[in-house]
Amino acid sequence: MNAIELEGKYCAKNYLPLPVVLVRGEGVWLWDEDGNKYLDMMSAYSAVSHGHSNPRLVKVFQEQAGKLAIVSRAYYTNKLGPLAKKLCEISGLDMMLPMNTGAEAVETGIKASRLWGYKVKNIPENKAEIIVAEGNFHGRTTTIIGFSSEKEYQDGFGPFTAGFNLVPYGDVSAIEKAITPNTCAVMVEPIQGEGGIKLPSENYIRELRRVCDENNVLLMLDEIQSGFGRTGKMFCFEHDNILPDILLLGKALGGGMMPLSAVIGKKEVMELFVPGSHGSTFGGNPLACTVGLEALKILEEENLIENSAELGAYMMDELRKINSPAIKKVRGRGLWIGVVIKPDIITARKFCEMLKEEGVLSKETHETVVRFAPPLIITKEQIDWVLEKIRKVLAEI
Ligand SMILES: *Cc1c(COP(=O)(O)O)cnc(C)c1O
Repeated sequence: MNAIELEGKYCAKNYLPLPVVLVRGEGVWLWDEDGNKYLDMMSAYSAVSHGHSNPRLVKVFQEQAGKLAIVSRAYYTNKLGPLAKKLCEISGLDMMLPMNTGAEAVETGIKASRLWGYKVKNIPENKAEIIVAEGNFHGRTTTIIGFSSEKEYQDGFGPFTAGFNLVPYGDVSAIEKAITPNTCAVMVEPIQGEGGIKLPSENYIRELRRVCDENNVLLMLDEIQSGFGRTGKMFCFEHDNILPDILLLGKALGGGMMPLSAVIGKKEVMELFVPGSHGSTFGGNPLACTVGLEALKILEEENLIENSAELGAYMMDELRKINSPAIKKVRGRGLWIGVVIKPDIITARKFCEMLKEEGVLSKETHETVVRFAPPLIITKEQIDWVLEKIRKVLAEI
């Protein structure tokens, strides 16, 4: 059996991959088993911002793997503290809690805000409410899908966790109206990535900060995908000059090499966790922390955030210049761009399949949006190459 047949027979089919079998990656490039080369415009949903097998990350990974990888947090290590300090410094927040996947960070953020609700805001037991936005994507645990507005994510998986209140995305007054004395937090993505790279109105996040302050409610931002330079700033909230109370991070934090996520928050929230109240066997392991710290240094030292801002703006401009009846709209921020396709002319999936034939790997989201989110190390020449391929595919339609 070949690789596709093996997966087909032995793997649950919770994905529908493009028919390409990848065997090697280097920088922005990927190779399949037949030696064909592709430019990765997906970056594993933005987890590979540093490029595939980034040499600096491979080096520290190998060194640390040969020294000490996992001990659990039953002991101190010399690697978690430095990463925690760095994350607090770059975010402006006070304390962190390490986990592995994004969904775990979200679950941890939910716990943190509920703890604060009971211990500080004095919400009656089991009454805490969290306001979330329609079109959200925060992960795939049963609690998280329970407050998704996507029926596809929920179908067959109930019953769901109580205590979430869904309101339209981008609508501050809807959130203001939904707040009750039992509301502990508002949790949103500053840009909805899986929702189709949807940007809220200009002042949304800043207004949310004000509404949360006025009502003694925590603002929890899920920057698992938007963080670490993806939008042209270290964190997307910097575009709005505000600070959240709780920040959820993951994906690119692991340098495209390790699952590593984190919850960072203000001291008055994070200090409420006590020994035994939360945990993770792999969370904060020295191997992941070593890679994570180096990944943050690379972002700064190699100017990847500036690159994202500059080349993202350039690519978006160039895409908007393309005159094609198949394109409805181009939107995004930094190197995080969604091209909205008119499905009556071509489906986003078909568009991605055609791009694949030209050596560009992308991914549709919600049938109508093709996303472009390359590693942040991409060069202008490589973007021009991709643009050429996109123009070619559009001309063929
Ligand atoms: C990917 C993602 C998650 C979930 O992360 P996993 O590592 O897949 O669990 C949560 N929130 C946002 C905004 C994401 O993009």
